[in-house]
Amino acid sequence: MEKQLKVAALCNGTVIDHLPAEKLFTVVSILNLEQCSNQITIGNNLESKRLGTKGIIKISDRFFAEHEINKIALIAPNAKINIIRNYQVVEKHPLQLPDEVRDIIQCPNPNCITNHQAVATRFHVVDEKNALRLRCHYCEREVAREEVKIK
Ligand SMILES: [Zn+2]
Repeated sequence: MEKQLKVAALCNGTVIDHLPAEKLFTVVSILNLEQCSNQITIGNNLESKRLGTKGIIKISDRFFAEHEINKIALIAPNAKINIIRNYQVVEKHPLQLPDEVRDIIQCPNPNCITNHQAVATRFHVVDEKNALRLRCHYCEREVAREEVKIK
């Protein structure tokens, strides 16, 4: 029992908290955590006052790059990312998308140049409020956050 608790506490690493339960495995997949050999603790359908149920991912000795954080922000905008060093939360990342998201999202327009040539996708973040949309820089197709397909 005590051993389990020790595994759950993180010495150094990242905790992604307040994930909607139904988004947990999407986040696991977009961050390629299946390929990650670090110690990972995943909890899902945990009780949460705010969300009803929530998911949480704890990863030892792993710190995410900006483009990975942007992916999380797209899928689960209200998640909280805590950086843990020496058992202390040293940094809380507010999840905020930049004005432009590069090379993360797939353009849904089959005629878009990004689906035919080796061009990295570029999307402008149109509205950061309740109804966030992303507009393709090349073909101007708009995508709602719920429709986003991560590359
Ligand atoms: Zn496009």
